[in-house]
This record gives sequence, C-alpha cells and structure tokens, in this order.
Amino acid sequence: MEDCIFCKIIKGEIPSYKVYEDDKVFAFLDINPLSEGHTLVLSKEHYANVFDVPEDIYAHMNRVVKRIADKIQEEYKPEGILINQNNGRRAGQEIDHVHIHIKPIYEDTKIFSERNHRKRFDDEKMKKIQKELTLD
Ligand code: AMP
Ligand code: ZN
Repeated sequence: MEDCIFCKIIKGEIPSYKVYEDDKVFAFLDINPLSEGHTLVLSKEHYANVFDVPEDIYAHMNRVVKRIADKIQEEYKPEGILINQNNGRRAGQEIDHVHIHIKPIYEDTKIFSERNHRKRFDDEKMKKIQKELTLD
C-alpha cells in the first residue's frame, strides 16, 4: 500500500534492522524500543489489523513471534517477554499495518500495568457475555 511506512520498509524503500523474512512475514527491530530486543512481526501483504488479516497469515505471524521470543530469551535472558498487538487508535495502534510487538522485560523496564483498572462482573453478566461470545 502506498503511503504505508511498513510497506515501504518491506520493499526496502526505508531502511530497517531486519531479523527475519519469508514469503509471508517480515520482522525488524522497533525504531523506538521499550527495551533491548523489542521487535515487530508484520504480514508482508498490507492488512490494517486483526480483523482484516486472513487467519492463516495471522497464525504464521504468531509462529514467527514464538521463534523470535525464543531467540530473545536465549540471547538476552530477560525476566519476561510481553507480546501484544494493537488494533485501533484507542488500543494504541499508530500504524495501520498489522504487526505484533515482542517486548523483552528486564529488571529496569518500565511497564504500564492495567491491574488496578480491572472490573468484576456479576454471574448474570458473565453468563450473558459468555453466551454472546461463544464460537460456533
Ligand atoms: P503501534 O503503536 O502498535 O502501531 O506500533 C507502531 C510501532 O512502530 C511503534 O512502536 C514505533 O516505534 C514503530 N515504528 C515506527 N516507525 C518505525 C520505523 N521506521 N522502523 C521501525 N519501527 C518503527
Ligand atoms: Zn502496509
């Protein structure tokens, strides 16, 4: 897609620190990392988000995520690794080309915790949501 910075990176029009590429997936270091090893895994074709990307491509992106996470763990031995994928501005998505973040968490890494903002729904509401979201 024209005007998409990640498409330009995949085409080599903008430089990146690539760590993996195959026919469907591309991965490079985030230019503004949370921590050492923060990596982005992208579909090579342009899809905006989780709703647009075909299931098999999303699954393959996640296979690559697993391999890169293993590699980070082996090389850097962080205390943990946070994996997230933002969809929509309110969910923190800035670039509308589907990508998964792999963020190593070290002793000094600052992370935002949602813990104190979690809710508790009563049984009736939980059952209603369960009914609405149960897959066929
Ligand atoms: P998101 O907010 O989930 O859309 O994530 C977009 C990510 O892309 C951010 O973490 C940025 O730091 C990163 N980013 C933006 N431009 C570049 C670039 N040219 N090379 C590598 N990463 C980038
Ligand atoms: Zn794109």
